[in-house]
Amino acid sequence: MEQKKRKRMYALVKINLKVAAAVLVSLALCCAAVITVSAVTSEEGVEIPIVMYHSLLKDEARHGKYVISPAEFENDLQYLKKHGYTTILMSDLIAYTQGKELPEKPVLLTFDDGYYNNYLYAFELAKQYQCKFVISPIGYYADQYTDTPDENAYYSHATWEELQEMAESGLVEVQNHSYNLHKSDGSRLGVKKVSGETETQYESMLSQDLLTAQEKIEQHVGMRPTTFVYPFGAVSKGTPEIVRKLGFSATLSCEEHISKITRDPESLFGLGRYLRVSGGHSADFFEKKMHLK
Ligand SMILES: [Zn+2]
Repeated sequence: MEQKKRKRMYALVKINLKVAAAVLVSLALCCAAVITVSAVTSEEGVEIPIVMYHSLLKDEARHGKYVISPAEFENDLQYLKKHGYTTILMSDLIAYTQGKELPEKPVLLTFDDGYYNNYLYAFELAKQYQCKFVISPIGYYADQYTDTPDENAYYSHATWEELQEMAESGLVEVQNHSYNLHKSDGSRLGVKKVSGETETQYESMLSQDLLTAQEKIEQHVGMRPTTFVYPFGAVSKGTPEIVRKLGFSATLSCEEHISKITRDPESLFGLGRYLRVSGGHSADFFEKKMHLK
């Protein structure tokens, strides 16, 4: 009787040991699997082609580096649709760093300076093709053209009402391109620090301007920008840190390269963009310049 009991106890201990070992092994496998998955994800990431546009005008005499025709923009949209690309917004990139997925072939289209002709042509085409784009107005000009409306495709900027209408469509995202630092003719180039300016003075000047734009956009458009778009791509030592401190989640540069976004939110700073100049077919621009397939 005693012997039988002891045998049964041994058997139970053996079973328990086996279960414990199995649990340990599976735990180890689990951890390994988790580590492998996250490593692969952060290593791989997603390449995001970003295009930079400015003005759209029908007048051929004005076409060049910063002005292309509405037809050229339409051809770009047709090319992207035909080749399976999906236009996304900065909110999609931020969501990706938070664990959400992106469409298979994402592309980001951006319009700088907030021209009225973007509202006139790009917005209409975006609705027609159900494509999305980012518009980054210069706050000061949105104020000026709201106060004194002047619908001239050549030089006017979009009003706050037009920017709001675009944002409300869900196809357009409004981002920050400074309130009144979009200048290259004075002593300061864009948001760059000037000589003789202390770090405290610089931070205060930059914060005041960028936050003015944030508040104006939030007040008039109903959304707070997540992204700062560097005027002329000009940056000083210390600028990115101040921009981060002000609460921006991403920045767009003017450097021509394809950026890789990972699950790390840091990967959203200093994203490269390709300037779409006038002339040349969409296929040439996307395939030869941006190396898209
Ligand atoms: Zn600009």
